[in-house]
Amino acid sequence: MLKELYQKLEERWSEMVQIRRYLHQHPELSFQEKQTAAYIADYYRALGIDVRENVGGNGVVATIKGRLPGKTVALRADFDALPIQDEKDVEYRSTVPGVMHACGHDGHTATLLVLAKTLNEHRDQLQGTIKLIHQHAEEYAPGGAKPMIEAGCLEGVNVIFGTHLWSTEKLGRVLFRTGPIMAAADRFEIIIKGSGGHGAQPHKTKDAIVAGAQLINDLQQIVSRRVNPIDPAVVTIGSFVAENAFNVIADQATLIGTVRTFNPEVRDFIEKEIEQIVKGVCLSFGCEYEYRFERGYPAVVNHSEETQLIIECAADIDEVHNVEEIELQMGGEDFAYYLEKVKGTFFFTGAAPENAETLYPHHHPKFDFNEKAMLIAAKTLASATIRYNRKHSESAMAAKR
Ligand code: MN
Repeated sequence: MLKELYQKLEERWSEMVQIRRYLHQHPELSFQEKQTAAYIADYYRALGIDVRENVGGNGVVATIKGRLPGKTVALRADFDALPIQDEKDVEYRSTVPGVMHACGHDGHTATLLVLAKTLNEHRDQLQGTIKLIHQHAEEYAPGGAKPMIEAGCLEGVNVIFGTHLWSTEKLGRVLFRTGPIMAAADRFEIIIKGSGGHGAQPHKTKDAIVAGAQLINDLQQIVSRRVNPIDPAVVTIGSFVAENAFNVIADQATLIGTVRTFNPEVRDFIEKEIEQIVKGVCLSFGCEYEYRFERGYPAVVNHSEETQLIIECAADIDEVHNVEEIELQMGGEDFAYYLEKVKGTFFFTGAAPENAETLYPHHHPKFDFNEKAMLIAAKTLASATIRYNRKHSESAMAAKR
């Protein structure tokens, strides 16, 4: 059956391209994806596939039931865009000023829709159930995955697979990793409250800028001196604001930053350590403070058997030249939440454009990807869906014997 599926997907690659380009021209920001959600739901309805809308927000979940008994496999694609002005010179560029599919989620959606259509035609030979999870709002925490799970999108699901097309990896490469693959991404904010005054009379003030400068330096010790060096971690201050006239001593300074970790214990530790250092610095400067640590997505942690399955599936596809382990990615993804609930894996599909001059990283105003990567992603996910059920029915039979 896989051969037939692959062949149909090849024939339908042009439909993937057409859908992807339509979505690319009509991007919507996270939590505002009404039209995109309607487009997805309409696609399923036209095929007579069972579909649920408004799942935990703008989420859409379609279900295909195979004729044969088996496990439930979920496949996930996100569909939100970014607040970026599209600067590409192509006929399918965004028609919405300041909004752009600059991360390839349009490609994820097109891949999953056409794959679902193709699997649905093979219902008679399919084992188990396939849930197509079209997730809104991946780009903006708290994200769409969490509310979709709360609304029941994982009910009855045994395993979940998802992929991200990746513009900086060559076409034909599929990249996997067992265990942590993407970081927990948190945000923190520190307000230092000093006591302002005349720039010529520092002795009558508590200078929030000097305290803030000291604090930024001291925070560097967390990763360099306090976290075990074998645990990757990042503490970055991205904003330090204390606006004043040149001859005024700052009353208040605000620092905003991000923390990236993989180990949940390190995450908790850094949250506390930041406050310890803030407390110490403020004490020594005679300042007060406010501290807020806002948790973003947890780390994406892949399960090993399911990752092995993806490796086997990808290696068997003609268009795939390399199946390799990827290094840890410090970026975040709310696919993490699914993997906290059910087994599965999240992998990357190389999607570098043929012309190296049009290669830009994700979230760049000129970002684009190689549309042929959608076919590789579709084949890999198709194969994982079929093989997962095959493996599980074989092991069930073996157990009975
Ligand atoms: Mn993305």
